[in-house]
Amino acid sequence: MANFDCTKCPGFCCSYPVIPINRRDVERLAKHFDLDFDTAKERFTKAAHGRKFCLRRKTDEHFGRICKFFDTKARRCTVYEARPSTCREYPTKNRCGYYDFLKFEREQQGDKAWIARTDTGEWR
Ligand code: SF4
Ligand code: SF4
Repeated sequence: MANFDCTKCPGFCCSYPVIPINRRDVERLAKHFDLDFDTAKERFTKAAHGRKFCLRRKTDEHFGRICKFFDTKARRCTVYEARPSTCREYPTKNRCGYYDFLKFEREQQGDKAWIARTDTGEWR
């Protein structure tokens, strides 16, 4: 059984700097938005770190940058049904390191909605 609950998490994994996806993922997103492949590729991905398609990002007040499909107020994915395979498969284990950290920090702060960051926030 999974030892984490993504519905209670502010979406740390969606803020990873490089989220590579594949051609089928771009096709799925294109279909979801009723776009052709090239338009979806251009709008939603960019080539980076030797990967052909990485999810584009935008500013996030908590983690600095986050996937462009992330709703930064509701803290959830806006394309859940059409999300890329990387997102479907992650994390590949029944634990999530960030969630363990989040649970611990929420207990320490006495705040169930606390958004734990992995830095001090002083350098932004
Ligand atoms: S960081 Fe972990 S708990 Fe949070 S959304 Fe990602 S997989 Fe789920
Ligand atoms: S597509 Fe959705 S689940 Fe995947 S990184 Fe973006 S916001 Fe997160």
